Amino acid sequence: MISLYLDLDPERFATPPARSAQIRSLIDQAARELDASDGLSHDELVTLRADLQRLDSYLSSREPPFQGAGALGVFCSGADDLFEVIQLSRPTSGRVVIGRSPFVEPLVSALQQRRWLVALVSRRLGRVLGGPVDQLTEHQNFDEYVHGQHDQGGWSQARYERSVEKDTDDHLRRVAEGVNQRWREQRFDRAAVGGPVEIVPRLEAFLSAEVKACLVPGRVEVDLSSAGDEAIRGALAKLVLKDEEEREREALDRLAAGVGSGGRGVGGPEDTLEALNERRVRVLLLEPGFDRQGARCQSCGLLMLQPSGACPADGGALETLEHMREGAIEAALAQGAEVMVVRHHPDLGPLQGVGAILRF
Ligand SMILES: [Zn+2]
Repeated sequence: MISLYLDLDPERFATPPARSAQIRSLIDQAARELDASDGLSHDELVTLRADLQRLDSYLSSREPPFQGAGALGVFCSGADDLFEVIQLSRPTSGRVVIGRSPFVEPLVSALQQRRWLVALVSRRLGRVLGGPVDQLTEHQNFDEYVHGQHDQGGWSQARYERSVEKDTDDHLRRVAEGVNQRWREQRFDRAAVGGPVEIVPRLEAFLSAEVKACLVPGRVEVDLSSAGDEAIRGALAKLVLKDEEEREREALDRLAAGVGSGGRGVGGPEDTLEALNERRVRVLLLEPGFDRQGARCQSCGLLMLQPSGACPADGGALETLEHMREGAIEAALAQGAEVMVVRHHPDLGPLQGVGAILRF
């Protein structure tokens, strides 16, 4: 099959000519690879050439969902009657891979991305934004400049202040209701709030229990009256980073506890592959740079580091895997495991860059 990733980075490929040039270069590259390949039968070659043609005309048409995507993954196999298009929110470098299974690595970081719901408030303003952190879109915008009635004469100072506080509470309740409703309607993983330190707790009090359960500690530090989208993203990025670090820390601690006790954790390429082969993996943890050469059984998919003749399980023929990383990720996804690329902690170093938390 052919896996093709098209980079839609708005800074480089926003215009149709730039996009076309990239498509041309990827298709040409795949065609050259097919011409040079020697392990393919005549029928396979014919099918793959037709697949390539299909990819080419699809990508050159008006059909693909370029809008709003950071990249596009297209998977095509005429032999399996498969044509799948996936939008990625982040840009990823353009790439085409011909292989017996889909090239899924770029999808992993997309899967790892969490969806945030963010509420920012001041006494009178409110904004609710949601989505992956680098693609936040605005859901609601509140601007409730309080009517001038309090300024009219005859109000005692105390009564005036009570009235202002009540208006603020009413406003915060409306923002919170907007948040609670979004949370019910769409899938989010994390919630964050931001605004002045004396206002934020009052907003939090109106949030539903489900939202509160996913609220990250800390505040997005922005001044809503002046902050633009870029400043908001920057302020949120700090909370996101902390959240990622903590999530990795938790997984690494669980891994260490499992490895140490000979329980539900394995470390190092050999034991991890064995666990993948036994379909026992709950979370596969990788360093960004982990990779190996290895082999995979073409009939049962068994992974091994040292290929030796035939598959020890069923005698099937082996294919060489240039990138065991890719094979391990595929196997993990195929058994419903989570894949985590550990970016913020060095713990996987002594395990040669790879480990797994096990189901049993
Ligand atoms: Zn086998």
